Amino acid sequence: MYRTEALTEADRLMTVCNSCRYCEGLCAVFPAMELRRSFDEGDLNYLANLCHSCGACYYDCQFSPPHAFAVNMPVALAAVRADSYAAYAWPGALRGLFARNGLAVAVLAALSVAGFLFALGGKPAAGGFYGVMAHNTMAWLFGAVFVYALVALWMGVRALWRDSNRLIPVTANPAALWQAVKDAASLRYLDGGGVGCYNEGDQPRDRRAHSHHATAYGFALCFAATSVATLYHYLLGREAPYLWYDLPVLLGTAGGIGLVVGPIGLLVAKFRRDPAVADPARLGMDVGFTAMLLATAVTGLGLLVWRGTGAMPALLAVHLGVVFSLFLTMPYGKFVHGIYRFVALVRYARERQMLEAGEIEG
Ligand code: SF4
Ligand code: SF4
Repeated sequence: MYRTEALTEADRLMTVCNSCRYCEGLCAVFPAMELRRSFDEGDLNYLANLCHSCGACYYDCQFSPPHAFAVNMPVALAAVRADSYAAYAWPGALRGLFARNGLAVAVLAALSVAGFLFALGGKPAAGGFYGVMAHNTMAWLFGAVFVYALVALWMGVRALWRDSNRLIPVTANPAALWQAVKDAASLRYLDGGGVGCYNEGDQPRDRRAHSHHATAYGFALCFAATSVATLYHYLLGREAPYLWYDLPVLLGTAGGIGLVVGPIGLLVAKFRRDPAVADPARLGMDVGFTAMLLATAVTGLGLLVWRGTGAMPALLAVHLGVVFSLFLTMPYGKFVHGIYRFVALVRYARERQMLEAGEIEG
């Protein structure tokens, strides 16, 4: 007896697919499923987070609707995956933020931007960034919210790993971590078994994968820009703002462009998705997080372009408000999908190692 209808449906499909096994070459979900004869909640959450929602198994399946078996793995796993985000949220009292997530993220972002604008928007531009907000205040405030987000995400990862470790216990090792890094960096399982993502129907394309890449690498470059700027500040004593050819600006500009192009592509892909494999119940959460990334990039690039004008304090306040709310909502929105999917890929790589070593049976 499962806790939710989504888990019950996923278990039903696992039974059908485990008898059929036609899709075992499409992605990691099917080989991982074949290692199990029964599925508890942790296993289903692991498999759901391993799914990249490429849609291939729906279009390849002879039992998909209107067949009476009504096999629709992308939709069933999307529902389980979304429920798993709330199930593993830390602290548990904030689980409710996953319900009506788009609204929750929008309200928190609006409050955060309004707060920063109220506190900083009217300051004179002449003192530069740190005349608007002292560096130490900025570092402590954003450092604290970032550390909180890391702790909350770590607690979720720990719960997911423990939960999925009951039937097949594994311990991560460096080789599994490295394999997962390669699989995540290349979005290996978003290609429908090699032909592309079936986002818009039965014709596979690479557009959704490209948008994912632009978003993920844009985010990484922006993070690198902030890290390099921190090193400049504390190790070299060089304060922002930096010239256009300085490393933090180059990294931030490239990352910002990726974070504009990628999220726009993801939003277009979301609204073009074939309704047969779409998950409309989670549209608010998906759009909310993507819109936050886009807002972070647009406000950051706007600040870069107009930092030498009288509008700088207001632009800085809006950008800081957006980034603050992005950090604050990271453990309670779609951001967790990247973290949990990576954890699932580590687990998958470890299970393959153990299978090849004869430590578990296929
Ligand atoms: S999705 Fe359909 S074709 Fe693929 S393994 Fe399951 S039942 Fe078989
Ligand atoms: S939607 Fe794609 S990634 Fe998900 S189970 Fe089907 S083939 Fe695998």
